[in-house]
Amino acid sequence: MDITCTECQNEFKIEKVSVGETVECPFCGIELEYKGKNKEGKNEFEVIEEEK
Ligand SMILES: [Zn+2]
Repeated sequence: MDITCTECQNEFKIEKVSVGETVECPFCGIELEYKGKNKEGKNEFEVIEEEK
């Protein structure tokens, strides 16, 4: 499936992901949690903020 990174806006592909799983953007390295499909049927991801 195709993912557009919510942070750097680059697109990349992954094999598959389940709701609640995380994927790492190969461009900026940020972690995104899969939230499932939205009303429009698009895959939604949420950036996981790292505590500093
Ligand atoms: Zn990114």
